[in-house]
Parts: sequence; C-alpha cells; structure tokens
Amino acid sequence: MSVVNPFDLSGRRAVVTGANTGLGQAIAVALARAGAGVVGVGRSAMDETATLVAAAGGSFTAVRADLATLKPIDRIVAEAEIGGRVDILVNNAGIIRRADAIDFTEEDWDEVMDVNLKSTFFLTQAFARRMLADGKGGKVVNIASLLSFQGGIRIPSYTASKSGLAGLTRLLACEWAAKGINVNAIAPGYFVTNNTEALRADADRNAAILGRIPAGRWGDPTDIGGAAVFLSSRAADYVHGIVLPVDGGWLAR
Ligand code: NAP
Repeated sequence: MSVVNPFDLSGRRAVVTGANTGLGQAIAVALARAGAGVVGVGRSAMDETATLVAAAGGSFTAVRADLATLKPIDRIVAEAEIGGRVDILVNNAGIIRRADAIDFTEEDWDEVMDVNLKSTFFLTQAFARRMLADGKGGKVVNIASLLSFQGGIRIPSYTASKSGLAGLTRLLACEWAAKGINVNAIAPGYFVTNNTEALRADADRNAAILGRIPAGRWGDPTDIGGAAVFLSSRAADYVHGIVLPVDGGWLAR
C-alpha cells in the first residue's frame, strides 16, 4: 500500500526572500528537506544557505535583488523560473527600525513599509499572475509577526507593516482561494536572529521578554520550519487567510 505524505514537497519549487540568514535561511532548509527546490532571493550572498540546502539534499538557486524598491521584481520572477515553475512563495524579507513614536522619522517609516509591505505585495502579485495563468495555483506564505496582533513599543512602522501584512494575507486569500492559491502567514514570536539583536542585548528587555514566554526560551530559527512546510504543502490545501503564531505560547498568555 502506498502512503501519501501530505507534507511532501517533492517536485515543487519555492522562492524564499531574505534567505541568507535567520528565519529565511531556516525556512529554505526546511522546505528543501521536505523535497522542494529552493530559490533564495536577497541582497546579500547566500552561500551559507546554499551549503545548508545542499546538505539537506536539496537544490538551491540564488537571485540577488534588493527589495527596497519594485525595480527588480520582473527580473526576480524571470530568474526564479529559469529552473522551472514556481509553486511556493515565502515572503520573509523584512526590516525593523526602533525609535520612540514621538521621534520617529519619515525615512524609518518609508524604508520599513517599502520592504515589509509594498515589495511583498507587488512580488506576490507578480508570482500570483504566473500561478493563475496556468491554473495550477500555488502557496503564498507571508512572515508576519506578533506585531500583527499586538502594538509593541518603539517600532511604529514595523507594527503598521506587520498588521498590514496580516490584513493583506486575508484579502489575498479571499480573492484567490477559489483560484487555487492559498495565502497564509506565520507570526513568529521572539526568535534569535539579527532582527532581535538589540532586544537581546538589553538585559532588562531580554529578561522581560523571556519571563513572558510560556515555553521559557527564545525561538530558534529551526522552530519555524515545520509551519512553513505545512502551509506550503497539500496538507494546507483548505487553509486560507490564517496568521499562524509560532511563538512559544506568547499570545496564549
Ligand atoms: P534578519 O536576520 O534580519 O533577516 C531579515 C532578512 O530580510 C535578511 O535576509 C535580510 O537580508 C532580508 N532583507 C532585509 N531588507 C531587504 C531588502 N531590501 N532586500 C532584500 N532582502 C532584504 O531577521 P529575521 O528575524 O530572520 O527576519 C525574517 C522575517 O521574520 C522578517 O520579516 C521579520 O520581520 C520576521 N520576524 C522575525 C522575528 C524574530 O523574532 N526574529 C519575529 C517576528 C517576525 P540582509 O541580511 O541582506 O539584510
């Protein structure tokens, strides 16, 4: 008797933005381990990710692009498709700027909104046009945040962008669910990556955050892979528009 694994991504091709480090790198490796070919998109070298994906038995292609503007989007799609149809898009690239709301600058507002929200939307639109054109559909996984649910402090553009991304996830799911594209998001809790370096360096904030996480530890990037594989797989074919927390229980508190 053959047993079909609904999480198997063999034969699928996944684009992961911001794949050189942190959560994007861990997601790239997890998708490869599940059988997908991975295309990493980012502005920095992705050699380390290529090595890790190869060690996981997968194939990796790097597309160098800066997502601060929409300029590279057509090229990203074209280069990603050189190796075959793109079935999965993981919008992971994101930045954060910290300052009190009262002092927050327009530059810190625009930079974060451009990468986290604007480029994410238009990259998704570009890949979705391809997914809809041949009728085979696909999976979109947005990397949201606890700041998609909560306010936070000192990160106004980040909270606005991630709350916006949760809304966008729901809107796109409503428009595309019947057309075979699943759009969902993951809301990571507090993970050990470059994004949270400043928080972990501040002894008081670090202790306050740790004390509130029911799991009693910061997330390790490897904790995120399973959720990404799930939402990229056939197991999630009837899952649309959710924002799935992977947060050590933070939101349950
Ligand atoms: P990270 O290590 O700072 O990774 C961010 C990634 O985004 C890097 O690959 C970075 O590339 C890429 N990126 C940023 N600006 C870009 C641009 N203009 N063009 C192309 N790529 C760009 O932090 P991370 O924690 O892994 O973050 C990944 C995602 O998870 C982000 O969306 C973040 O908001 C989200 N998140 C993280 C946490 C957490 O606790 N760590 C919690 C909730 C949500 P470079 O290395 O070249 O800058």
